[in-house]
Amino acid sequence: MKDIPSAHGIQTTAVHAAEPPDPVTYASSPNLVMSTTFVADADATFSVEGLADDSPYFYTRWGNPTIDQLERKLRALEQAEGCIAFASGMAAVTAVFLSSLEAGDHVVLSDVTYAATAELAGDLLTGFGIKVTKVDASDLTAVEAAMTDRTKLVYIETPCNPLLRLTDIQAIAGIAHRVNAKLAVDSTFATPVATRPIALGADYVVHSLTKYIGGHGDALGGAVLGSAGDLAQMRKRVAIRTGGVISPFNAWLILRGIATLPIRMKMHEQNALQVARFLEEHPKVTRVVYPGLPSHPQFDLARRQMACFSGMLTFQTAAGPGAARILAGKLRVIHNAVSLGHHRSLIFYLPTDDMLANSFHLEGAQAQAYRRYAGDGIFRLSVGIEDAEDLIADLEQALAGLP
Ligand SMILES: *Cc1c(COP(=O)(O)O)cnc(C)c1O
Repeated sequence: MKDIPSAHGIQTTAVHAAEPPDPVTYASSPNLVMSTTFVADADATFSVEGLADDSPYFYTRWGNPTIDQLERKLRALEQAEGCIAFASGMAAVTAVFLSSLEAGDHVVLSDVTYAATAELAGDLLTGFGIKVTKVDASDLTAVEAAMTDRTKLVYIETPCNPLLRLTDIQAIAGIAHRVNAKLAVDSTFATPVATRPIALGADYVVHSLTKYIGGHGDALGGAVLGSAGDLAQMRKRVAIRTGGVISPFNAWLILRGIATLPIRMKMHEQNALQVARFLEEHPKVTRVVYPGLPSHPQFDLARRQMACFSGMLTFQTAAGPGAARILAGKLRVIHNAVSLGHHRSLIFYLPTDDMLANSFHLEGAQAQAYRRYAGDGIFRLSVGIEDAEDLIADLEQALAGLP
């Protein structure tokens, strides 16, 4: 079941990779195999030790044909040797931590990540005797200074949720590898359409498939990609044992979503650019952060590292936290909801004090750096693939309601 990294374009890969006609029925589209168990040979054993890439299916927590198809398609898109799909993005993040770290080890973690990642590291990992150092990963000197001879993992997110601050993957890979630490990159906001972290030196790529890759807001999922050896170890030691396996049904939905990922990303980017420019001109908007705008503090890095600027932006208004209630009440097309990367536009307000105190636990220079991007609070807008004019009209009528 080895897929050679595709020589085709990314849209052809998204449609065809891991989807040959079914050898039994000649079905052109993927089957959905919901079976949890598979009839085994008389000499099959219960141990995961003998598990290999070409082992027959045995039990769905170990492997399943539909999940396998999803993993192979993701490998082709990220050009990675190995992939494990998980029940959610957080199950994928957990697997990276559990397979890279043990008591006494040290992890250097970006100080702004998906909130649950920060909470998991700050809470559970610390409780397991793992030392966690949080750094502003956009500051290479700070990352370098945080490395120790116990550092086993550097964990970053670019663009990071929710600030859209970027990290130079290639530079951080160099810093991590000098002390033999691995680099994991949560690439959920970028997707393989924008950035291929493995080609830039990352050891692990993490995705919440719930977001752009699934793309339709109807299936939770996650994935880790990396070398064949690392991923085989992760499957045996962590994935099969912790059991955060994706449902084959969700895998099947996400497979179908992936077929349109490249064209959706183009549309997300096109719409986000138009919405960002509209917001930047709007008198009630004080700040817009979007990697595709020349006003982004790291626009040069964005152009170097992202082949597509994706569909996530943040903006601030002068109206303070009260603006959140007003916009939520007035928006008609855009849903006031968490999550992101769906075909439908979603907006959510993130008040800075709350994020700093409850999720990121940042103080001093790191808290100040957060405020430089987020002020007192940001609207995080996931620009969908509706017509840009309709999104702009919706924002315009809602912003008109602000004092
Ligand atoms: C949503 C998200 C996650 C977590 O994914 P779930 O599928 O919700 O568990 C992790 N990282 C980033 C950047 C996310 O946006």
